[in-house]
Amino acid sequence: MIKQKIVLRYPPHVVENPTIYHLIKDFDLMVNILRADINPKKEGRLMMELSGTELNYQRAVEWLQEQGLHIMGLEQQIIWRSERCTHCGACTVICPTEALAFKRPEMTVSFREDKCVVCELCLRACPARAMETLVDNANFK
Ligand code: SF4
Ligand code: SF4
Repeated sequence: MIKQKIVLRYPPHVVENPTIYHLIKDFDLMVNILRADINPKKEGRLMMELSGTELNYQRAVEWLQEQGLHIMGLEQQIIWRSERCTHCGACTVICPTEALAFKRPEMTVSFREDKCVVCELCLRACPARAMETLVDNANFK
C-alpha cells in the first residue's frame, strides 16, 4: 500500500468530468480531498491524498495524465510557531482532527503533527498567525 499527496490541475475542458468517481471505482483508491478550487469551465486545482496498491496508483496516474490533467507530487506540512501562539483556542474549535487541542489542566494549546490532515482551516482562524504552511512541490515522477 502507498499513500501519496498530489495536486491535480484541471484544464477547463475536463473540470466537470467525474474524475474522483473513476479513481475510486476503476482504480480502487481511497481519496482524501485536502483542498479544492474547482469552478465550472475554468482551470481547477485539487489537493488530495491517494492510497491504494502501488500498481493501482501507477495505473491511475497514467489514466489521469491521459485525461489531460497535470499532476504534481506534494509534500506539505503545517507548522506551529509556538512562540507566536497566545493560546486563545480559536483553532481548537475548527481543527477537525484535534491536532490542535487544549492540554489540561494547564489549558494551553498544543499541536500534534501526526494528527494533522493539512486542511489549512487553522491558518485562517489564527489571529496571531502562529500557523504556517510549508509546501515542497516536486514534479511527479
Ligand atoms: S491544518 Fe487542519 S488538521 Fe492540521 S492543525 Fe490545522 S486545522 Fe488541524
Ligand atoms: S488560534 Fe493561533 S494563537 Fe490561538 S491557540 Fe490556535 S495557534 Fe495559538
